[in-house]
Amino acid sequence: MSDCLFCKIINGDIPSSKVYEDEHVYAFMDIMPLTKGHTLLIPKTHCQDLFEMPQDVAANLYKAAPKVANAIKQAFNPVGLNTVNNNGAAAGQTVFHYHLHLIPRYDETDGLHLQWNTKKFEMNELANFAQAIQENL
Ligand code: 5GP
Ligand code: ZN
Repeated sequence: MSDCLFCKIINGDIPSSKVYEDEHVYAFMDIMPLTKGHTLLIPKTHCQDLFEMPQDVAANLYKAAPKVANAIKQAFNPVGLNTVNNNGAAAGQTVFHYHLHLIPRYDETDGLHLQWNTKKFEMNELANFAQAIQENL
């Protein structure tokens, strides 16, 4: 897509620090990393988010994910790694070409703070939620 920042990066119109590239995906360093090694993995096919991603694009993206994650692990020896994908502005998405953040973790002060405020639902409510989703598969 001509006015998409990440399509321009794939095409080389905007410079990036490339990590990996194949026929289907491109991986590069996030310009404002949360931690050392914070990498973005993107499909070469433009799709805005997970909701509009075709299954074959998703398959090819996740085929490359372990390869890139393990290279980050070998390079920097993190103690863990979070994968994050924000879909929609309300979820924190700022660039509207799907991207999977690969964020190596070092310690609790390393820049990523995930606060999980869990809620309690009864088993029958969870079953109803599952059914609502199933009906839309
Ligand atoms: P989002 O907030 O959409 O999940 O993540 C977008 C990410 O893209 C951010 O982490 C941001 O730092 C990164 N980003 C934005 N513009 C550029 C750019 O021009 N080059 C690179 N390498 N990363 C970018
Ligand atoms: Zn794009």
